[in-house]
Amino acid sequence: MTNLEMIQAYGHEQVAYFNNEKAGLKAIIALHNTNLGPAVGGCRLWPYESEADALFDVLRLSRGMSHKNAAAGMPLGGAKGVIIAHPSQKTEAMFEAFGEAVNTFMGKYYTAEDVNTDTNDANYMLRTTKYVVGRDSVSGDPSPYTSIGVYDGIRAVAKFMNGSDSLDGLTIAVQGLGKVGMTLAKMLHEAGAKLIVANNSNREAMKYAVEELGAREVARDEIYGVDCDIFAPCALGAVVNPKTLDLFKCRAIAGAANNVIYDDACGEALKAKGILYAPDFIINAGGVINAGQEAFTTYDEENVLRQVHNIYNTVYRMLEESRETGKPEGVIATEFAENRIRNGLDA
Ligand code: NAD
Repeated sequence: MTNLEMIQAYGHEQVAYFNNEKAGLKAIIALHNTNLGPAVGGCRLWPYESEADALFDVLRLSRGMSHKNAAAGMPLGGAKGVIIAHPSQKTEAMFEAFGEAVNTFMGKYYTAEDVNTDTNDANYMLRTTKYVVGRDSVSGDPSPYTSIGVYDGIRAVAKFMNGSDSLDGLTIAVQGLGKVGMTLAKMLHEAGAKLIVANNSNREAMKYAVEELGAREVARDEIYGVDCDIFAPCALGAVVNPKTLDLFKCRAIAGAANNVIYDDACGEALKAKGILYAPDFIINAGGVINAGQEAFTTYDEENVLRQVHNIYNTVYRMLEESRETGKPEGVIATEFAENRIRNGLDA
C-alpha cells in the first residue's frame, strides 16, 4: 500500500510533513476530519524507528481523535501531530517550529500536549501560534476532568449491571494510581466502593491507597485476575489481550486508559465471556472535553462539567445498543462516532 492509499483508507483530509533542519524538527501533522469543526489533537514526541511507523501512528491517533471528539458531542474534528525525536532532543526552537507548522493549517488544527510533551513545550509553541489548547492559564490540567468522566462512566456501568448506579459495596480494581487513577480511586472510595489496586512504581500512591482508602494491594500482574465487579485500567493500553483475556473475573471493564482492547478479536472474545466494556474513547473523554472548549468557545467550567457528566448517558447507550445488537461495545462506539461525523452531532 502506498502512503496515499493508506491515507485514503483512513479517510484523512490532509497529511503534511515538516522538516526544519535549523530547529531540529521532523514532524507529521495528520488532519483527519473537520466536518464538525476545527480539528483538535495533541502533539506526541516519540523516537519512531522509521518514518512508516510515525505515519502509521499519526494516522491512527488522529482518526481516534475524530471519534473521541464526535462521541463527546464536541463541535470539533480530529487531528494529531507527531514529532520524530527522542525526548532528550527537545529544544525551545523545535516547539517554536512546530507552532509554525500548526499555523499552515490556518486554524483548522489546534494542538495540545501529549505523550512526551508538556505545558512548557506548549508555551514555546504559543510563541509562534495561537492554535494551542489545554493552556495552563485557561483550562489547565485535564486529568481531574478525565477522572470525573471515568467515574460517571463507571456509575453508568453499575446502573446497567445492577439497576442502580450506587457504587456502595461494589469491588473495583484500579490498575495505575497516576494522575487519573488516584483521583478516581478517591472518588470511588467516597462512594463506598471496595478497592483493589496495583501500581508498578509509585510506592507513595500505593501506601496512600492502602492506608487512607482501605484498598487491598496486589502485585502488578495479579490485578487482571482478581475477583471484582469492575476492572478500571488507568495505566496502559492493550491490557485486554490474548494473554490476559482468560484471567478476567470481573463483570465489566471501565477505565481511563486508551486503546484498552488489543484488537477486534479480543473485543469479540470479551463480549462472548459476558464482560461489559465501557468504550475507552467515550469514557476517557473528560480531559479533551475540558481542553477542547478553548478551540470553539470561551472556557466555562460549568459547561465543561455538564458535558463531562453526559459521559454517563453515552456509556449507558453504548451498553444498551451492544446488548440489543450483539456487537461489542467498542464497535458500537465507533459506528456512533462515525455516524455523527457524517451526519452531525444530533445524529
Ligand atoms: P500517569 O502517567 O499519571 O499514571 C499512570 C500510572 O500507571 C503511573 O503511576 C504508573 O506508575 C502506573 N503504571 C504503569 N504501568 C503499570 C502497570 N503495568 N501496572 C500498574 N501500574 C502501572 O497517567 P494518567 O494521566 O493518570 O493516565 C492514565 C491512563 O489514562 C493512560 O493510559 C492515559 O493515556 C489515559 N488517559 C489519560 C488522560 C488524562 O487526562 N491524563 C486522558 C485520557 C486518557
